[in-house]
Amino acid sequence: MARTASLLALVSAAVVSASPLLETRQVDCCALIENVYPDKISYPGSSGYVTETGNYWSSTCSLAPNCYFIPDVTAEVATAVGLLTANSCTFSVRAGGHHSSVGAAGNTGGVTIALTNFKQRDIDPVNNIASIGPGNRFHEVYTAADAYNKVGVLGRYAQVGTGLLLGAGLSYLNNLEGLSVDNVVAREVVLANGTVVIASADSHPDLHKALKGGGDNFGVITRYDIKVFDYPETILGGLVTYGEEAMPFYDDLTYHYHVDAAVNDKLTHILPQWGFNGATGQRESFTPFLYLNQQSQLPPSLQPWVDIPWVHNTIRETPDLAPLSFENHDGYFNGDAQQQRTFTIFADREFFHEISERFHAFAQSWAHIEGFYALHCKMPITPYMVEKGIENGGNVLGLEGIEQTLSIQYFGVTAKNLEDADELFAAHEEFIENLREIAREKGLLHRYIMWNYSAFNQAVIDSYGADNVAFLKQVAEAYDPTGAFHTLVGGQKIPQ
Ligand SMILES: Cc1cc2nc3c(=O)[nH]c(=O)nc-3n(C[C@H](O)[C@H](O)[C@H](O)COP(=O)(O)OP(=O)(O)OC[C@H]3O[C@@H](n4cnc5c(N)ncnc54)[C@H](O)[C@@H]3O)c2cc1C
Repeated sequence: MARTASLLALVSAAVVSASPLLETRQVDCCALIENVYPDKISYPGSSGYVTETGNYWSSTCSLAPNCYFIPDVTAEVATAVGLLTANSCTFSVRAGGHHSSVGAAGNTGGVTIALTNFKQRDIDPVNNIASIGPGNRFHEVYTAADAYNKVGVLGRYAQVGTGLLLGAGLSYLNNLEGLSVDNVVAREVVLANGTVVIASADSHPDLHKALKGGGDNFGVITRYDIKVFDYPETILGGLVTYGEEAMPFYDDLTYHYHVDAAVNDKLTHILPQWGFNGATGQRESFTPFLYLNQQSQLPPSLQPWVDIPWVHNTIRETPDLAPLSFENHDGYFNGDAQQQRTFTIFADREFFHEISERFHAFAQSWAHIEGFYALHCKMPITPYMVEKGIENGGNVLGLEGIEQTLSIQYFGVTAKNLEDADELFAAHEEFIENLREIAREKGLLHRYIMWNYSAFNQAVIDSYGADNVAFLKQVAEAYDPTGAFHTLVGGQKIPQ
């Protein structure tokens, strides 16, 4: 219990540091909105409040706002945001609730805007655009687009939400079309003063660019217009399960994927990952595969992955992507304590092995924690993906100019009980910072920290580089001159 209390203190500190007015404010911020929309506010004890509190992947992110505001249309968000900022009310915005960054999509003592009801899914098959509401989960978007044999540059897991489209976005289509943020053509944005704008290449282009990586610093997104692409009648996809016997080969294949398959055969997609299960003391891997072509056999570029020992293999020809997203998501559920951390390196075969060995040893030392699981992924960003981003108007991630494939290094730890979280998360942070330092010493570290997989105290925006930080500041001053999204809303903030 003591640890839970101290974790919550940490959370409050994180939120309060972005929201100094939390304790002193006299205004009843929930009542301000309730006066206008009495049916759309849920207080503690109500079924709406209980449901929304359960809509977080990590239990560390299920905090205790004074109320949830659950709007249905953009005008309601606009009115509420105008009221909240005018009265210096702390608030948060939640879409799918899958970020593990504490205090980003939730708060204690403020208002949380839950975008649950924003379920627009309109596919324009002529112009190849999907207009989607931020309350969708990716399986819903896949299903809507599958009906037209089209697919967007979306996350790979069914229940993950559209917040992914604000950070970077790793997807089945990355090798061919670049990052998710670079394939959003327009966003409807509620600004801090309650006005609504469309940010696109033609309308507020500075805001459009800033939102390609700038996260939750500029407004509430109430609609995303994303590109969708044709795919053949069937594609090849599924999940391959591996056990310990595959692990000696896994990093070599992962390296090959980074520098060869992902670069030279752009129809490929693999999400290389392994997990250590504290209950069994074993490593295992559930690796998603996709080949965006109508054929019954894996191409030569991916064949080595099924030449090593595997346990199950569901790769098949399929007409739809939505079922693949469910298959990937199987085994991920809400309610455990989760911490994700990430850093970026240049792909390097030897270091890939070293990282796996070190993280395996770290994970083994925590196997005694109830429900312990450690997950590690290595995911490529190729120079071509960065070029696609430039072709699509540029983003603020600071990746331009890379000549070799980068590897996003993901490390997640899970504990069943919040009581174990403080100690585990602190050790995890220390381990990752140490590993990052080793990468730096080897000359393999890239400064980029991917928003999507970051922890609340990783310096994400800073990692985009001084020019991008200066640009983001300039855009924030133009669209949010009072700094409401900086001071009232948590999450990854632009450094001042
Ligand atoms: C099981 C799992 C699988 C994942 N798979 C992938 C993957 O395949 N590819 C990938 O790139 N990432 C993946 N991620 C990471 C994912 O991109 C992030 O967690 C992302 O933030 C999830 O979005 P969300 O809407 O679910 O999160 P939320 O927690 O609801 O939101 C995340 C952040 O965005 C802000 N935000 C969300 N929506 C809005 C909005 N409309 N307006 C303003 N601010 C908003 C929130 O305030 C919060 O700060 C995965 C995560 C998990 C747990």
